[in-house]
Amino acid sequence: MSVMDIFETMEYGPAPEASAPALAWIQERQPFGLFINNEWAKPASGTYLESVNPATGKSLAQVAAGSGADVDAAVAAARTAFGTWSQLSGHTRARYLYALARQIQKHARLLAVLETLDNGKSIRETRDLDIPLVARHFYYHAGWAQLIESELVGYQPVGVVGQIIPWNFPLLMLAWKIAPALAMGNTVVLKPARYTSLTALKFAEIVQEISLPPGVVNIVTGEASQVGEALVRHPDVNKIAFTGSTDVGRSIRRATAGSGKKLSLELGGKSPFVVFDDADLDSVVEGVVDAIWFNQGQVCCAGSRLLVQENIEPQLIRKLRARMEKLRLGNPLDKAVDMGAIVSPAQLQEIQKLVEQGVAEGAQKWQPSWACPTEGAFFPPTLFTNVSPASTIAQVEIFGPVLVSMTFRTPEEVVALANNTRYGLAASVWSDNINLALDIAPKIKAGSVWINCTNMFDASSGFGGYRESGFGREGGKEGLYEYLRPTWKTETTNQFSETILTAKDFAMEEIDEIASGEAMNETALVLPAIDRTPKLFVGGKQVRPDSGYSRDVYSVSGQRIGEVGEGNRKDIRNAVEAAHAARSWSTGTVHNRAQILYYIAENLASREDEFARRIVQQTGRIYSDASDEVQATLSRLFSYAAWADKFEGVVHRPPMRGVVLAMHEPMGVIGMVCPDVYPLLGFISLVAPAIAMGNTVVVVPSQRCPLSATDCYQVFETSDLPAGVVNIVTGEHDVLSQVLAEHDDVDAMWYFGSAERSKNVEFASAGNMKRTWVSNGHERDWLTSVQGEGREFLREATQVKNIWVPYGE
Ligand code: NDP
Repeated sequence: MSVMDIFETMEYGPAPEASAPALAWIQERQPFGLFINNEWAKPASGTYLESVNPATGKSLAQVAAGSGADVDAAVAAARTAFGTWSQLSGHTRARYLYALARQIQKHARLLAVLETLDNGKSIRETRDLDIPLVARHFYYHAGWAQLIESELVGYQPVGVVGQIIPWNFPLLMLAWKIAPALAMGNTVVLKPARYTSLTALKFAEIVQEISLPPGVVNIVTGEASQVGEALVRHPDVNKIAFTGSTDVGRSIRRATAGSGKKLSLELGGKSPFVVFDDADLDSVVEGVVDAIWFNQGQVCCAGSRLLVQENIEPQLIRKLRARMEKLRLGNPLDKAVDMGAIVSPAQLQEIQKLVEQGVAEGAQKWQPSWACPTEGAFFPPTLFTNVSPASTIAQVEIFGPVLVSMTFRTPEEVVALANNTRYGLAASVWSDNINLALDIAPKIKAGSVWINCTNMFDASSGFGGYRESGFGREGGKEGLYEYLRPTWKTETTNQFSETILTAKDFAMEEIDEIASGEAMNETALVLPAIDRTPKLFVGGKQVRPDSGYSRDVYSVSGQRIGEVGEGNRKDIRNAVEAAHAARSWSTGTVHNRAQILYYIAENLASREDEFARRIVQQTGRIYSDASDEVQATLSRLFSYAAWADKFEGVVHRPPMRGVVLAMHEPMGVIGMVCPDVYPLLGFISLVAPAIAMGNTVVVVPSQRCPLSATDCYQVFETSDLPAGVVNIVTGEHDVLSQVLAEHDDVDAMWYFGSAERSKNVEFASAGNMKRTWVSNGHERDWLTSVQGEGREFLREATQVKNIWVPYGE
C-alpha cells in the first residue's frame, strides 16, 4: 500500500509490536519453575503445564504444575519471612515497594508484550493501561508503608496471605493483591491463573532483582485443584484474597468457614450502563466501547447491560452499530487494534453458548459485517436488542464482548432495572444533568459508579463489590484494612469457652465477690414482675412469637426470673421484612440518626437502676459491676451518636481531571447475634453502630440473658426510633443464627459466640455471599473502647462506594 493509497482511504496500516525480546526471554528460561524463598524450584510433581498464545493457538511456554507439597513449602517460606518482614519499619518496606515500582517501569515494555502474548489482550491496553496501573499501585502503597506508623495506629499485619488471581488482568491483579499486603507487613503466596502465569514469573525475577528478602513473595503456578485448593485450606495461611468467578468465591467462602482466615472476594458482575436522553451520545458511544469491548469484555466490571432511555434508543443503537462496524479486531500485538483474542478456546465456547441462548430466547443479535481471524480464539463485538430483563443474557455474566440493551422511561424505573441483578460491582451513568446523575449514583447498588465515564481505576480509590460481587475493597485506605487486624487480636488470647457461659459456672466465678459482701444479694433486690408477656419486637410492635412457645430465663442460682418468646424461622422472616420496609432510615439525615441515639441514651438513663438490677439478676454479677455496664452502654450510645455524622467519606484525587467521592454507605439489613456476656452492653455495642450508619437490623439478643434487650422495647418505643429499624427476635442461637445467615435478604451478618457457630454462619452465608463478621470463638473486652467500639464497628457497618466525577468540557 502506497502513502497515496493510505491518504485516499485513511485505512490503518499494520503497526506490529516486536515480540522477539519477549519470546527470547521465555526461551531462555523455560520450563519455568516455582518461585519459593527467592529461588526457582522444580515442582514436586515433576510435571509442567503448557501456556498457549490465544491469538495463534500456538504453545508459548512450559510452566510448573505445582501441587500441595509446593504450597506447603511456599507457605513455610512465607511464615519464616513474616517474622522479620513484619518487624521492619514502614520506611524500610516503603523503599522495597518503591524499588518494585521503579523496576516494573524499567521492564514495562517486556511486561506489556508478555501479557499480550499470554492473554491475547491488545498491546494498546497492556502498554497504556495495565502496566502503568501496576506501577502506580506499587508507588501508592509505598506511600502507605511509609505512613503506617502514624496513620494506622493500633493495627498489625494479618500474617501469611494466600492470593489467587484470574487471567483477565494477570499482572494488574497481582499488583492489587501484593502491593497492599506487603505494605502492611504481610508475606504472600500467590497463585496466578492457569492460563496466564508469565508476567507473574517476570515479576518474581523483579523481586530477585531488588533483593526483596527471601520468602516475602512466593509464586506457585499450577491448577486450581492442586494449588488453589491447597492454599485455601492450608492451616498456616491467615487470609485468602481472591478474584474470580462468584461460584469459586462461594466455594472458598465455604472452605474457609470457621478457619479464622480473613477473606476478601472480588467476584463477577453484570454492570449497568445507564444513558439518559440528555447525554452526549457521541461520548456515550465511546464510553460503550470502553465499557464492553475493552479487554474483549473479559472484565468483571464491564458495562454489559446498556439501559437507555426509550426516546433515544433508535438513535443510539444506530450510532453504536456504525461504531462497531469500524472497530478493529485482530493480532493483539498490532498497535492499531481495538480488540484482541479471547483468553482460551474454552472461554470462547462459553461465550458462543450464551450468545446462542440469547438468540433462542428471542433477543435480536447484531454483529458487524467484517469477519474475525480464523486462527486463534476471537469473537466479534456483539449487540443484543429486544432483550427481556429476566432473560439469561440479561442476568448471567457472559465475560465476553457481548452487550445487551434494554430501555427505560423514568429515573425510578432505571434504578430498579439497574439493581435487578444479583451482582453489584459497578455502574456507569450518563447524563448532562449532573444533579440527576448524582442522585442516581447512590441508588444503584454497586461499589463503583462512573459518571459520564467508565472503567476508571486508580490505586487511591478502592474497588470492590456489593451483594454477590463479593466483599472487601482493593485500593484506597479501605483496602489496607483487608491486610490488617487490630493489635489486641492475637491468635491465642481470649479463646471463647462455651462452659464459662453456663449459669452454674458463671455463678461460681462471681461467688467470691458476692461472698465478700460487695455484691447485692439476689434476693435482696426488688425483682421486676416475672410474668411479663413474652413477645418479640418486630416492625416497631411487640408481637407474639409464631411458635406460640416461650422460653424461661433463669438467674445464676437457677431461679426463674422471666420469659421471652421462642423465635423461629417465620419470626426472622417477618423481622427481615420489617427491616426492609424501614430502609428509608438510610436516606434520612445523619443528624436525625444522632438525635435518636441520644434520645435512646436519655430514656435508658432514666431507668439506670432497673437495668443494672436486671443485669445482676441474670448474671449474678455484683451491682457496681452491673452499674458500670449500664454506664458503659450510655457512653457507647453517645459515641455512636457522635460518630453518626463524622464517619464520612473522602474525596480522592486520582490522576485525572475530576474527583472520586468515596462514600460510606450502609450495608442494608444486618442480622446480628449478640454475645452472652454483657447482655446490655453487648447488645447496644452491635445495634448502635449499625443504625448510626443507616442500617436496619434484626437482632438476636443473648440467649442466656435476653431480658436486658427485651427491656429496651419500651426505650425504643419512646425514643422516636422509626418502626422496623431495630427488630428483636429472642430464642435459640443455633437455630436463629442459621436462619439469618441463610436469608437471601439479609445483607450482612454479625455473630458473636462460639467457634462452631461462627463456622456455621460463615458457611451458610455463602448463599447470597453476604459479608460476615464473626468472633470465631474469641472474646473481646466489651467494656473498653479499644475493643468494644469505634472504627472497626463502623467499617463493618458500611461499604465504600466510589463515585467518579470527571470535570471539564
Ligand atoms: P475462576 O474463578 O475459576 O478462576 C479464578 C482463579 O481461581 C484462577 O487462578 C483459578 O485457577 C482459581 N481457582 C479456580 N477454582 C478454584 C478453587 N476451587 N479453589 C481455589 N482456586 C481456584 O475463573 P475462570 O478462570 O474459570 O473463569 C470463569 C468465569 O469466571 C468467567 O467466565 C467469568 O465469568 C468469571 N471471572 C471473573 C473474574 C473477575 O475478575 N471477577 C475474573 C475471571 C473470571 P485456574 O486458573 O488454575 O483454574
